[in-house]
Amino acid sequence: MEFSALPKTSCGSFHQELAIPLVASVASACNAQGRRFRGARSPVLESFQIFLTTVPLPAASSSEDSFLWRANDLDLSYFSAKNTWSELRPRAPKHQYVSSVWFKGAIPRYAFTMWVSQLDRLSTRARLVKWGLGISSLCCLCDCFEENCDHLFLRCEVSEQLWDLVLIRLGYSLFAFHTWDAFMCWLSLRDTTSSILLCRIVALATIYSLWIERNNMFFNSVSTTPQAIFKRIDRHV
Ligand SMILES: [Zn+2]
Repeated sequence: MEFSALPKTSCGSFHQELAIPLVASVASACNAQGRRFRGARSPVLESFQIFLTTVPLPAASSSEDSFLWRANDLDLSYFSAKNTWSELRPRAPKHQYVSSVWFKGAIPRYAFTMWVSQLDRLSTRARLVKWGLGISSLCCLCDCFEENCDHLFLRCEVSEQLWDLVLIRLGYSLFAFHTWDAFMCWLSLRDTTSSILLCRIVALATIYSLWIERNNMFFNSVSTTPQAIFKRIDRHV
C-alpha cells in the first residue's frame, strides 16, 4: 500500500506526520525492530499507532502491496462507497412521524415545511423572542396567544376554522386534535372515512398554507380568510 492513500489529519497528511515517503510501501516502512514511524504528534495518529500494535508486522517481501477495505465490521474485497458512507454517517433510528411527512406523492415544499414544523424549527415568534429579538411573541394571526407551532397550526382561531373546513371536506365531522402529538397520531391512523394518503396530502397543504398566511401577516400585514385559504387548498389538492 502506498501511504498517499492514507487520510489527511487536521495537521497534514499521515505520511508527513509519520515521516514516511509518500510512495513508501508497507514493508519499507518497517524493519526487524518494528515500524519506522516517529512518535505520534496528534490524538488521531496516536490512535492509529495504537491500532497498528494490534496488527502483525508485515513480512519482508518484494511483492506488490494490495488494498484491503473494511467497513461496518465487514471485510470487503472492493471499495464500497455505500458501506463507507454508512460507516462515516451512522443512521439514527427512524422516527414514527417520517412516513406521515415523507411519502410517495408528497409535494416537496409542503413536506419540508411539515418536517421543520415537526422538529419545532420554524422561526415562530416564540422562537424569535428566545433568540433575543425585541418583538412581540403574540401570534401573527390572532394577536392573542404566544405564537408557537402548536398554537399557530392547531389552536389558533384561524387555523381551527381552516381545519374545520378541511376536515368536513375530507368527510370528518369532528376536529379532534389540538396538540402536535395528537395531530401526528391522527396522520398515522387508518379509517374508512378518507384514505390515509389523501389525509396526509391535505394535512401537509394545510400546514404549508397556514405558514404562508402567517408570513404574509408577519412581513406584509396582508391577511386572507380561512375560507379563501381553504378554496386554494381544495383546488391544489
Ligand atoms: Zn393565533
